[in-house]
Amino acid sequence: MKTYQRFGYKECAGCSREFRVSEIRSNLGFCTECLRIWKAQQVKKWRTKNGEHVIEYGRKYRKENQVKIYSRSVKQRAEKIQRSPKWADLTAIQLYYETRKALSEATGIEYHVDHELPLKGRLVSGLHVPENLQIIPALRNIRKNNAYTPG
Ligand SMILES: [Zn+2]
Repeated sequence: MKTYQRFGYKECAGCSREFRVSEIRSNLGFCTECLRIWKAQQVKKWRTKNGEHVIEYGRKYRKENQVKIYSRSVKQRAEKIQRSPKWADLTAIQLYYETRKALSEATGIEYHVDHELPLKGRLVSGLHVPENLQIIPALRNIRKNNAYTPG
């Protein structure tokens, strides 16, 4: 294990090679190449978890509910802006959206970047920060309907 790091350089968490800090693409600490591999793995994992029938169901749902899905996304965009603190890690947030896109393209299912605590919850409201994000199939996201029960 390394005990020091050259200034301005960072070790990739995937391949352990040293890169300029600017070449480490995400808060996961991966270089561009490792990030690509990581994304592909995520896609594979999701694919295994959700069988073909889920994929088919998602396709059908999306077709029948396009308007509903679209109007929700407009509303959500406005909420995101309101709930974005200045200190939010934009690179990390971006990573969630990139992964979502890769997943949706690879599986044919619409995935959403979901806020674990809804931005406008009934009891508590979450923030638009990486700590509050998760990637889930659009179907589940829509069903969730801003419900949050503290446990
Ligand atoms: Zn790497």
